[in-house]
Amino acid sequence: MKFKSIKGTKDILPFEVGAWQLVERTIHDVMRTFNYKEIRTPAFEETSLFARSIGELTDIVSKEMYTFKDRSDDSLTLRPEGTASVLRAYIQHALGEQSPLTKVYYIGPMFRQERPQAGRLRQFHQFGAEAIGSPSPQLDVEMMLMALEVYTNLGIESSTLKINSVGCQKCRPAYKELLIRELRKVYEKLSPESQARVLQNPLRVLDSKDENDQKLTHNAPLIKDHLCSDCTEHFAEARALLDATNTRYQVDGRLVRGLDYYTKTAFEIASSALGSQDALAGGGRYDLLVEELGGKPTPGVGFAAGMERLLMVLAKRELSTDLEVQPVLFIAALNEQSRRWAFVKACELRSKGISVEVDCLGRSLKAQMREANRQHARFVVVIGENELASGSTNLKNMQTGQESPVKLDSLDSVFRA
Ligand code: AMP
Repeated sequence: MKFKSIKGTKDILPFEVGAWQLVERTIHDVMRTFNYKEIRTPAFEETSLFARSIGELTDIVSKEMYTFKDRSDDSLTLRPEGTASVLRAYIQHALGEQSPLTKVYYIGPMFRQERPQAGRLRQFHQFGAEAIGSPSPQLDVEMMLMALEVYTNLGIESSTLKINSVGCQKCRPAYKELLIRELRKVYEKLSPESQARVLQNPLRVLDSKDENDQKLTHNAPLIKDHLCSDCTEHFAEARALLDATNTRYQVDGRLVRGLDYYTKTAFEIASSALGSQDALAGGGRYDLLVEELGGKPTPGVGFAAGMERLLMVLAKRELSTDLEVQPVLFIAALNEQSRRWAFVKACELRSKGISVEVDCLGRSLKAQMREANRQHARFVVVIGENELASGSTNLKNMQTGQESPVKLDSLDSVFRA
């Protein structure tokens, strides 16, 4: 075949889309209960928006962005994550002036040129939320609870929540110095990737996946033990709220997120049902980011969660065929005149909200019945010359096989009952 989808991208095929729609419905429902409103931003933005917010030295910006020049020679980038765009929109449309706390969520595709593997794509989908305008740890915990609620509502119980505090501009610089001093002692033995990070982003050396790096940094100081009083208090209150809401969590002093903009709380949710790419969601507080992007100093907190990974966990469970879009009624027709009648009737019933299918391939009755079965139609009626003349037919329940007489002009009332 000549054309194929691009490496790292995936078609979501008709038989898979039911699970996506179930997940999307669940997300909308959960967000509604927490009073978050949906926001939809463009799929591409000025490159500098991402460089500025995510950080020039992060993997995302330095290695993974789909950046291109358009015909006007402007540098544009397909969004690698959602927060930067949401904050750009928040500032551009002065949403903060409409209400002191802006609570929004999004669902959509993100783009990163990573090495594709199970659970890692180049176009993937995230849902996420942002609460902009409050420094309260209540919102940090709200983020965690919202993500967890989506998983619980979908019956996913294998998830674990890890939290940390990555400090703020008051306490992080001194800690960074201390950490760099410690890392220099083992510098020669670190992996090349961690060596590169020692000066640029030393905190990330601590969450290196390399086993040797982990051993070498086993006794390295952790930021959670070097927080200023403000960050200490914030972290303590976040934990107290998690306890008060009976949320299970672990404090992971090595947890650092791959994005530079986090301050104070950082968290991740992982699933034991996944392989090496086990992160379901991640988030944290970004109290400096709105200002960094040109807005007024405004605290904020958010999270983003991968949809493909969530669906991988769901796929391990039996999902019912109810998830597929199924016609409620299949009208099988025996001749030309009844085919026309079936088509017109289907249009009439559909306009009343009833899902109906008819045959448009001129198939035999037997083939039409087979099709109705394949489509999991719940009911079938057969229409021919006799039925049109008498104005009635039998309604067959495809699950029980039971048939009951029904008048052709009252078909709609059967389904609306
Ligand atoms: P991040 O924006 O890097 O914090 O990622 C948040 C979540 O998005 C992760 O926990 C994953 O579930 C998902 N995710 C990130 N990158 C990818 C990717 N390349 N492919 C699939 N899912 C991803």
